[in-house]
Amino acid sequence: MVRKMTAQKQHFDIIIIGGGPVGMTAALFLCQQGFKTALLDRLDYKDVLKETYDGRTFAYAYGSKLILEKAGIWSDLEPVAEPIQDIFVTSEGPGDGLHYGAQDIASQHPMGFNIETRHFRSTVYKALQSQDNFHLFAPCEIEEVTFETNHVDVVLKNQKAPLVAPLALAADGKNSFVRQQVGIKSKQIPYDQKALVLVMDHEKPHQNCAYEHFLKTGPIAILPMKGNRSGLIWSLKTDRADYYHSLSDTDLATEI
Ligand SMILES: Cc1cc2nc3c(=O)[nH]c(=O)nc-3n(C[C@H](O)[C@H](O)[C@H](O)COP(=O)(O)OP(=O)(O)OC[C@H]3O[C@@H](n4cnc5c(N)ncnc54)[C@H](O)[C@@H]3O)c2cc1C
Repeated sequence: MVRKMTAQKQHFDIIIIGGGPVGMTAALFLCQQGFKTALLDRLDYKDVLKETYDGRTFAYAYGSKLILEKAGIWSDLEPVAEPIQDIFVTSEGPGDGLHYGAQDIASQHPMGFNIETRHFRSTVYKALQSQDNFHLFAPCEIEEVTFETNHVDVVLKNQKAPLVAPLALAADGKNSFVRQQVGIKSKQIPYDQKALVLVMDHEKPHQNCAYEHFLKTGPIAILPMKGNRSGLIWSLKTDRADYYHSLSDTDLATEI
């Protein structure tokens, strides 16, 4: 008699595919609600959590701060979060642009906060590690995701036992593998643009101001950081971005 062998499955309440900011934060909330949660990412968290992995910052609107407060991690993030008090939006066109200020809001709270992604990741990860129902699969390679009527099966390369859960959350970013597996179509429009992302020191206090300057070639965003620095995100035509990227720090500072 030939008996078909079925590998034992690993059961979870939810499987989150993609452990970026969205996947990690969702995992934390779900664990806190008592759900047995599997978080999958193809990157090695040992690398992702290194201080040098990512020099970018994320700007969090005030509403996001309230969500992080609810997750119980805002007290850890606050010391590394730079408040954004004023936002100036300008363009190449006519007009003086727009100004949004914390003083215009009745409760006078900051418009948002700017946090270096490395601080955000390590804080959320630390909170996740204290949850008994959190299970991390990283790095991992997903071979197949199958959606059945009442559950989702996820087969990982080099893992004999597939993961199974009644629900899967796709948080695997803009080129989502899960989206393709489900058959959701997407349309990509090339802009022939790249963004230069850098951190600069100021000679004068930045006074917690953020700037969005919309140029025909793409927007420039300047967001205040701790230590009288700002993060600059400069979208440009690809050839200009490559040119600026090739410059020395001193020459690039002069261009800026
Ligand atoms: C220059 C720049 C500046 C930005 N500034 C801001 C900002 O100030 N504020 C802000 O809110 N947003 C900002 N954004 C946007 C921000 O990066 C995204 O909104 C954010 O990263 C989305 O988070 P996410 O978790 O959905 O996806 P991602 O950050 O893309 O994370 C997806 C995760 O899924 C994993 N993954 C992907 N495919 C697979 C797979 N097949 N198997 C397993 N794992 C997989 C990836 O390794 C990754 O860890 C900026 C973006 C850029 C490029």
